[in-house]
Amino acid sequence: MYDVLIIGSGAAGLTLALSLPQNCSIVVLSKAGICEGSTVYAQGGISAVLDEHDSIDAHVADTLNAGAGLCVEEVVRYTVARGATAIDWLLEGGVPFTREDKNNANSPLHLTREGGHSHRRVAHAADASGHAIETSLVRQVRARDNITVLEHHIAIDLITSRKLGRDSNHCLGAYVLNCHDHSVSTLQARFTVLATGGASKVYLYTSNPDGASGDGIAMAWRAGCRVTNMEFMQFHPTCLYHPHAKSSLITEAVRGEGGHLLLPDGQRFMQHFDPRAELAPRDIVARAIDHEIKRLGVDCLYLDISYKPRDFILEHFPTVYATCQEFGYDITQEPIPVVPAAHYTCGGVMTNLQGQTDVDGLYCIGEASYTGLHGANRMASNSLLECIVFGQAASESITQRLAEPAVEIPLPDWDESRVTDSDEQVVISHNWDEIRRFMWDYVGIVRTSKRLARAQHRIDLLLHEIDEYYAHFRVTSDLVELRNLALVAWMIIRSAQERKESRGLHYTLDYPEADPTLADMPTILDPMTTYHPRIVMT
Ligand SMILES: Cc1cc2nc3c(=O)[nH]c(=O)nc-3n(C[C@H](O)[C@H](O)[C@H](O)COP(=O)(O)OP(=O)(O)OC[C@H]3O[C@@H](n4cnc5c(N)ncnc54)[C@H](O)[C@@H]3O)c2cc1C
Repeated sequence: MYDVLIIGSGAAGLTLALSLPQNCSIVVLSKAGICEGSTVYAQGGISAVLDEHDSIDAHVADTLNAGAGLCVEEVVRYTVARGATAIDWLLEGGVPFTREDKNNANSPLHLTREGGHSHRRVAHAADASGHAIETSLVRQVRARDNITVLEHHIAIDLITSRKLGRDSNHCLGAYVLNCHDHSVSTLQARFTVLATGGASKVYLYTSNPDGASGDGIAMAWRAGCRVTNMEFMQFHPTCLYHPHAKSSLITEAVRGEGGHLLLPDGQRFMQHFDPRAELAPRDIVARAIDHEIKRLGVDCLYLDISYKPRDFILEHFPTVYATCQEFGYDITQEPIPVVPAAHYTCGGVMTNLQGQTDVDGLYCIGEASYTGLHGANRMASNSLLECIVFGQAASESITQRLAEPAVEIPLPDWDESRVTDSDEQVVISHNWDEIRRFMWDYVGIVRTSKRLARAQHRIDLLLHEIDEYYAHFRVTSDLVELRNLALVAWMIIRSAQERKESRGLHYTLDYPEADPTLADMPTILDPMTTYHPRIVMT
């Protein structure tokens, strides 16, 4: 039995692993290579109050403002107050944050300013902050004898005492599939932590890596945890549109430096949506692009910076230039095809300030969690901060509880006696594509009650079909992800249907205004009371 099972090796999971005492036995799972998750792709940086003109109150106020009435102020203050300590901890671990003076390692950190922040407060490592953080954490984890890392191991489901027929609901570990030899093992642990990242893969277009299928959120639900605010999915306005260009964001700085958004006929259109045109906030731009794509029935629109001098473009956007070049687009000569893309999951598994969920012994941290920090809209660079702060908070809570006696219940092995190898893998790929397509079309940036009802009919059918498939065929990583993706899609649709107003990232044409009576009212789905015929807690 391990002391702690951490499912996920991004910023949240590895922070926790490194913060726990070194005499504690820890196993960290990663369903792909250890670095593969959203963390490593983060570009901008991590927010913290470090500038002498900035203040905790200002960071709190900006976060509350972005969250449009749904942040929990106590959580915002708790997180923001720990920002500087989080940066110090990363620096001690060797993260090479960019300095004011590149030649002086003791000079203050260079801070950037991002949308919604009233001050410069984003610490960064050039434009590859996530890579710098992830590789530093991985290096430290590899040096610890008490931490076992299992790469290419995907958690299928949590094991709880209630699932084993007891009255109490205590998390006892998880069933885990080895993606290489396809064996399923039973990992028993005193404490289990979900650090599985977000669920943006539920949409056709996303900036997230393939693994963002909401596994932790789905597993927590099946274990009996409440899930909150799933209607608030954040979309980035501009991702490169190309069949092979996965996860390629086109930075908002291209618009900041004068890039024009164009319809297929070359006309600009943003001025019809907002007087700030291309410089309007992220959500307004994403909504306008989505509106035009749907109105014209086209696959993408265009972002054009080619009218600027070639040298200017190469100097300011070397990464965008190189990425587009790889896919055959010369941005100094032609517009870039773009679509908005699902970027961040604001909702998730409901936790307290220590990352504890509704199930005893089960924690959830990072993007998979709902702590109350982001409310109806995440402010840029607050998410990595949340990963570090709550990774450390969970470690404090678990450390205190390690003195408690362990819950000793023998765990049954994974039962494969009633399943066979699938002869219809096409069901998985078809359903995977179908979910992502209708979620994009019906539950995307602009919603209506009619579109949500259409999506609900489809997801009900698919959940039924996937359940049948799961019951009859041997489990594979694709099947694990599809099952989770479908459940999370259902949660997003259900939450969007419950919110009869437009607020933050949730925009519906049927209720275009915010309803003041719904401020401070998160959308909470409870598996013990939310009725759905196909969603059983197994
Ligand atoms: C392109 C991009 C740019 C971003 N830029 C920024 C930024 O500048 N600043 C900022 O604050 N935020 C940014 N974000 C958001 C931020 O990167 C993420 O919110 C954060 O990194 C999430 O960290 P995490 O540890 O929760 O999860 P992740 O880093 O996504 O890691 C998830 C881990 O869980 C594992 N996992 C998942 N399911 C299972 C399973 N069933 N079994 C086993 N393992 C599993 C994965 O293998 C992975 O190791 C960006 C995101 C993207 C995609």
